[in-house]
Amino acid sequence: MITLKTERELKLMQEAGRIVALALDAVAKAITPGITTAELDAIAEKTIVDCGARPSFKGYNGFPANICTSVNEEVVHGIPGLKRLRDGDIISVDIGAEINGYHGDAARTLPVGNVSPLAERLIATTEAALAEGIAAFKSGGRLTDISYAVQSYVEAAGFSVVRDLVGHGIGRKMHEAPQVPNFGRPGRGTRLTPGLVLAIEPMVNIGTYNIDFMPDQWTVVTADGSLSAHAEHTVALLEDGPLILTKI
Ligand code: MG
Repeated sequence: MITLKTERELKLMQEAGRIVALALDAVAKAITPGITTAELDAIAEKTIVDCGARPSFKGYNGFPANICTSVNEEVVHGIPGLKRLRDGDIISVDIGAEINGYHGDAARTLPVGNVSPLAERLIATTEAALAEGIAAFKSGGRLTDISYAVQSYVEAAGFSVVRDLVGHGIGRKMHEAPQVPNFGRPGRGTRLTPGLVLAIEPMVNIGTYNIDFMPDQWTVVTADGSLSAHAEHTVALLEDGPLILTKI
């Protein structure tokens, strides 16, 4: 069931989103060659807890960490650990926080030291595809207008969008209806209505869009080992257009 949020609920979600953005910023500032992903996890946890919130991912379906850290060919859901980042890596950091019963969810992909021009272009394309998806989140439109905007931007840049994983509605639960695919023909699905809140999250690969799961059952990787990037915002639809909630 799709729940539309009231103005009061949107205010609460804005607070959750602000905390997610603060945690993402703190992690982004700490990223440097030699740091472990477990250290990044601890930085995010401290930021979230200091704000009086709770990391949404911790324990979600048994997820063992506070945030997801996905390096290079890892697409999403990487588990922080003792892996040290190296110069030239790219890392997707995905963070969720809950406060006053509402969740925020956002992700960024960041370079570690100096990365290749191709990796830079992958990250920039993924961010721009997210912006295209958000711009298509308009009153009177349909859900797959967002999907189409993301896919067409990514494929025009020569990359592929992951098809087996989707964005989602968000609110009292981290994952609510509807699912938000990153590909497909426009003009289909749920009508876009003020009060709808979506986590829009393109996952973009340099090579094939096919993915595999690692033996830990969480980490998603590209099937061909090519680099992958991920960007996400929690976005509310207001009367006059989309409002990004995962902002400071
Ligand atoms: Mg999400």
